[in-house]
Order: sequence, then structure tokens, then C-alpha cells
Amino acid sequence: MANKIRQVKGMPPVLPESTPNWQYVESKFRHLLQSSGYAEIRMPLLEHTELFKRSIGEVTDIVEKEMYTFDDLNGKSLTLRPEGTAGCVRTAIDNGLLHNQKQRLWYAGPMFRHENTQAGRYRQFHQIGVEAFGFADTDIELEHLVLVSRLWKELGLANMTLELNTLGTSEERLQYKKILVDYFQQQQDLLDEDSIRRLGSNPLRILDSKNPQMAELIGNAPVLLDHLGEESTGKFNRLLALLDKLQIAYTVNTRLVRGLDYYCHTVYEWTTNELGAQSAVCAGGRFDGLVEQLGGRAGTAVGFAMGIERLIMLLEKQNSLPEPERPDIYLVMLGDQAQETGFVIAETLRDAIANIRVIINCGGGNMKAQIKRADKSGAELALFLGEDEVNSGQISIKYLREEGKQIKIDQQKLVEFIRKHISQRTG
Ligand code: ATP
Ligand code: MG
Repeated sequence: MANKIRQVKGMPPVLPESTPNWQYVESKFRHLLQSSGYAEIRMPLLEHTELFKRSIGEVTDIVEKEMYTFDDLNGKSLTLRPEGTAGCVRTAIDNGLLHNQKQRLWYAGPMFRHENTQAGRYRQFHQIGVEAFGFADTDIELEHLVLVSRLWKELGLANMTLELNTLGTSEERLQYKKILVDYFQQQQDLLDEDSIRRLGSNPLRILDSKNPQMAELIGNAPVLLDHLGEESTGKFNRLLALLDKLQIAYTVNTRLVRGLDYYCHTVYEWTTNELGAQSAVCAGGRFDGLVEQLGGRAGTAVGFAMGIERLIMLLEKQNSLPEPERPDIYLVMLGDQAQETGFVIAETLRDAIANIRVIINCGGGNMKAQIKRADKSGAELALFLGEDEVNSGQISIKYLREEGKQIKIDQQKLVEFIRKHISQRTG
């Protein structure tokens, strides 16, 4: 036998036993968004590398060390998308979706980051994200937070924590950056290597450092919120007041700056303490400058993204995933004649009863083998067609979940019988 080819590190598949969980989460999300006026957009997985450098920022973990970048056959530098926002904005600009319009969009799909693989941290992972364009007021942030908190409710997720901060306008941040750089420069010997590098290029991101040795220094740093003007704090306080009104619990975290460069005003993270170091489940905020930065006309943008793997891990931990759906019927057929009749009967049932779940035995097998498969399929009923049944125009029904119970009825009466049986079960 030839050597096996292994999967690429950090890029796990979703196996058949798990796909129902993914479909469950995705469909909850899809229904919630579609019914709230959001439309799906599907972006390419590959973009010009320049897009991510310009939007996410050169001095970020993602662009510095996590991107899958390569030259294509024409020598163009391309990158597998590490997140969805940049590509969504680029696509919206390219296709004239932003000019003088409001857009509420959502997307879902794989993202790629070359990170250290561990539980809840992969190199190919999946996000569901939302972006809204053309909304200047914080009501749109409120809508997003309400949507996410409703999603937690509908999924039955408990103990999600919402942390919020405001980054103000770019002018306010510029002022604050000077104050922050002054502060850090006075204590330069306490900075780690990453922070020294960021001091010149992106000092705000020092606040984002996860190095415990930096915690005290960061804890005593001047706070951005204290250096914002009335308009910015007013917006933020209004958002907080509305969250209070809707009884969405939050904490203000003045150190929260988010890893990406494009944010302004509102930033937030939904976290859990049940997934170890992989605590972030959903993150988002406002990024008004990005559209213009990517060559569009100045416009506003607000969005968030959540990690599906972490969401599903959490649902598993909290025992909140639904039982997989069982088939209603497994069709057992013995002989050519029975097979012919069987396929016709299955189609008749599917025509007559919406959403009925019928599995047809394929691959032959004797009675015992087929019943065994029927049982294993989880089906409620086995319908049985042998030579006798074919000749008499009847069909046998075996109750797979009730010991020994079996009846025989006319094929003509089958639809009525099954309809009743299913409505009893679901009703
Ligand atoms: P972290 O701090 O855990 O690295 P992040 O701030 O880099 O997260 P974002 O870029 O905000 O993450 O992405 C949004 C969400 O996508 C995260 O909250 C997380 O749930 C998920 N996510 C990010 N990176 C990964 C990954 N490598 N594997 C699995 N999920 C991820
Ligand atoms: Mg990260």
C-alpha cells in the first residue's frame, strides 16, 4: 500500500457525525439574520495581499506572521483570507454596493491563519460575520449586539460575557497616542520586545499585549476613555444606556483595543471562561475609515465576526446541541420486483408528505442484513416488501423502536397511514 497523505496541520475536516451541529448553528444564524433584513454575500477566498496589508495593518499579528501568502503563476502576490471584513468591503466597493446606499450583509466560511494549533485555534477555521454600511449612529451597533445576544438565547448558550470599549475618532486617538507613547517611553526598560517595536508604529496595540509581565505597566497606563471629547463619550454612553434598557449585561474594558487597525468608536468582544485561552467567541465594532482607505468614497461601516468552531465547542460543553434527526422510514426490499415497487412507493411518499425522511436500502442483502441496516439508521419504521407483499399489493410495517410490533396493510393505504404516524409523532 502507498503511504497515506495526511491532512495539513491545523486544517481539520468537519466529519459527518459533526455536520448536523454545524448546520444547526448556521441555520439558526441564517434565519435570525435573514429575518432582520440582512442579505448574504459570498466573497472569494483569495485576495491580493495588498488588501490585507492596507486594511488589517502591517503591524498586526495577522499580517506580520499569520498569513498564507504566495505568488501565483503570474507572479502576483495573493493571500488566503485571514478574515472576512477586508474582502467584504473590497467586494462591496467593486460592485457599487456602497454609494448612497445602506447595506446589511452577512457571510460565512473558512478563514486561514498560520497560528499555533491547539483546541479552539486552527489554521483553517470558520467565521460567521455581519457588516453594515451607511449607518452613522450607534443604533446599528445596538442592533448587532441585540442580534448576537438573541443568538446566544436561541442556542441556549449561557455565561457569555460582553466587554465593550470606545476608541473615539482618529483625531482623538492621535492625541491619546502621544500621551500613551510618552508614558511608555518613560518606562522603556519594562517593555517587552513586541511592545518596543509597536511603540513606534502602533502603540495602542501594546494595550492588547497578553504578556503577564506587561500587565502592571498596562494597568497603570493612561486610559483612552478619559481623553475623548464629549461627542464620542456621549455616543458611547447612549449605547450603554440602551443596552441597560434591553437588559444586555456588559462590562466596560478600557484596555480593549482589538487586534486590527481599522476600528474606531465602538469595539467589543463576547468571551467565555469555558474554553481556556481561546476565550474570544465573537468580536466586532465600528470601522468607518476602512471604506475610504480601500479606495471607496468615505462611508461608515460596522460589523462583527464569530468563530464557529469555538461556538460549537461551547455548545458541546454546555450540552446544548440538539439530538440528530432520525429518519422516519427505512425501506427493505427483497428481489427485483420488490425493488421496482419499492422505489415507486418511496417517491409516492416523498410527493405526498413534505419533509418525510425515507432511506431506501441500496446494495441488496438478505432480510436480516437489511433489517440490521434499518435499525442502525435510527429509523422509526421499516417498510418491508418481499415476494408475498408484491403479489398481494400489500406492504409490511415493522416498528423498529417497539419490540416485535409488525403489521401488514394495502399499499394503497400507505400514504394515509404514514401521514398519521408522522403527525402523531410530531404533533
Ligand atoms: P484570538 O484573540 O483568540 O486570537 P482574534 O482576536 O484573533 O482571536 P478575530 O480576528 O476577532 O479573533 O476573529 C473573530 C473570531 O474568530 C474570534 O473571536 C474567534 O472566535 C475566531 N477565531 C479567530 N482566530 C481563530 C483560529 N485560529 N481558530 C479558530 N477560531 C478563531
Ligand atoms: Mg488571533
